[in-house]
Amino acid sequence: MSENNANGIAKRELLILGSGPAGLAAALYAARAELAPLVLTGMTLHGQASTTDTIENYPGFPEGIGGTELGQLFQAQAERFGAEITMDVATDIDLKKQPFSVRTYSNEYSVKSLIITTGADPKKLDVLGEKALTGRGVSYCATCDGWFFKDKDIVVVGGGDSALEEGLFLTRFSNSVTIIHRRDELRAGAILQKRAFNNPKMHFIWDSVVTEIIGEDAVEAVQLKNLKTGQETLKETKAVFVAIGHHPNSEMFADQLELDELGYIVVNQKMETSIPGVFAAGEIADPHYRQVVTSAGMGAAAAIQAVRYLEDLEAKE
Ligand code: NAP
Repeated sequence: MSENNANGIAKRELLILGSGPAGLAAALYAARAELAPLVLTGMTLHGQASTTDTIENYPGFPEGIGGTELGQLFQAQAERFGAEITMDVATDIDLKKQPFSVRTYSNEYSVKSLIITTGADPKKLDVLGEKALTGRGVSYCATCDGWFFKDKDIVVVGGGDSALEEGLFLTRFSNSVTIIHRRDELRAGAILQKRAFNNPKMHFIWDSVVTEIIGEDAVEAVQLKNLKTGQETLKETKAVFVAIGHHPNSEMFADQLELDELGYIVVNQKMETSIPGVFAAGEIADPHYRQVVTSAGMGAAAAIQAVRYLEDLEAKE
């Protein structure tokens, strides 16, 4: 529970930013250490994984589990041990002195330890028409929007696991899915490639990029450019699903914590950032694995270290 001082600033031992697998695993471990952690959910409750239709590679669920359902289970388990999960977003964070200061839309906290699990957001194509037609056929989440394009011909941009996974999911609804990839070789893993090549609804346009998304009130077509021949073609489509990777949500920490060249928070094996007492876990600190299981593992490790940090801090006080 928070202990408010005269200025209305709530004091907390541990605050966790983000409610994806990393944040909620951290909350579970910290709660079981009786820290009564507070989790600020951020804008996406249960994080990006909750927008995935079926998660087939999280251990313990041999038949797979829905992303939303797994997020709810993570939350229920953390709450069972005393974690408090609140729908709020940090707007300003000062890590210059201990205790750290965290302002949110609705509150102000003074915290001794912080675990950052703010994840990563989908990258944009940055082409004409993309912004204006977002929500009108341009989407970054097949699970969220796929249903709207029942029996339609649609395109997915990208050549990684996400593009194929989203594409395969979309074949459930759509008439056809065309993957537009800038090279002639996919980055995605072998299993997904095999599934995609064997799916009669999946088609591929190689060596090509989208240069414009065209439509008045909704997506009508994409302008494509073949990078090898330079040839431009127009492809009719009702939707453009963009799956070209993510960028880490670390802007708020740019001048306070060490980030790598891509903006990911740099952590050591103990999930420690460049400031003692501040830990990071999950996709905000992981450009390599980005799996639910690895994020949850990082979250658990961060919480274990935060507990140790707080014990050491208390011993010094
Ligand atoms: P990714 O592996 O970084 O792939 C991004 C894809 O988009 C690449 O094919 C890339 O092309 C293409 N791309 C990037 N920028 C582009 C642009 N501006 N225009 C056109 N194409 C562009 O990203 P991801 O697929 O989101 O996967 C990220 C991580 O999550 C990976 O480690 C992946 O294994 C993991 N993941 C795993 C699963 C699963 O196991 N089921 C599912 C989803 C994601 P190039 O290939 O030419 O670089």
